[in-house]
Amino acid sequence: MISIEGLSKQFRTDNKTITAVDQLTLDIKEGEIFGVIGYSGAGKSTFIRLLNRLEEPSGGRITIDNQEITKLKANQLRLARQEIGMIFQHFNLLWSRTVKDNIIFPLEIAGVPKAEREKRVKELIDLVGLTERENAYPSQLSGGQKQRVGIARALANNPKVLLCDEATSALDPETTNSILDLLVSINEKLGLTIILITHEMHVIRKICNQVAVMEEGKIVEQGDVLDVFLHP
Ligand code: ADP
Ligand code: ADP
Repeated sequence: MISIEGLSKQFRTDNKTITAVDQLTLDIKEGEIFGVIGYSGAGKSTFIRLLNRLEEPSGGRITIDNQEITKLKANQLRLARQEIGMIFQHFNLLWSRTVKDNIIFPLEIAGVPKAEREKRVKELIDLVGLTERENAYPSQLSGGQKQRVGIARALANNPKVLLCDEATSALDPETTNSILDLLVSINEKLGLTIILITHEMHVIRKICNQVAVMEEGKIVEQGDVLDVFLHP
């Protein structure tokens, strides 16, 4: 489903070059919930942002669903990104738009006709459990509800992959669990592949099938969650 070969990212600042992701090679199977764990500065966020080219790679190749992401031109990339939803630690919602209008936004961009958009947004709001809150503004929602909006927006165009960038790190433990439960149910219901990065072991233990441990831009260990964490 996802194949990553020799992926690298260097950041050049005034006086030095930082290698955030270093020759990383990895395969992720369809339908998996794949976790990447590591300390702060390990390169996790850069890695996940490379997958939809929010960061431009310095080298290497990314293939998602038979499409070589690293080769796409801007207009092709825009289409490919409809297949790759993403959620963020700080939700990245549009604060001047209601719940419904946040979720409808990617459908407008994709040129989905109005009647279909209305139908789709209702389904999405039900899916994430925000019925009754569709006319609220983000500032009126709890953290967990904001992330539910983020999830609904990310799923709007029926992506095959969902990228989660520290998606529960700003939430309390109880809310974290409810968001993780929602991700599992979406994975089961829609069969989509989920890649998440986190610095929290319990997140990996709770929902991931596969895990990779990242250090200094490299994967230093990888496998079944049970194998990696129970048989050191
Ligand atoms: P993590 O998500 O694991 O905390 P990051 O991917 O955010 O790690 O960062 C990996 C390394 O890359 C760090 O040394 C960080 O300072 C550096 N880095 C990340 N983004 C940038 C940037 N835009 N410019 C320069 N350095 C960056
Ligand atoms: P993280 O994964 O560390 O939470 P994000 O991916 O959410 O970071 O954001 C990366 C950077 O972009 C951060 O410095 C954040 O402040 C900034 N940022 C995030 N969302 C927005 C936004 N909607 N408008 C402007 N800046 C943003």
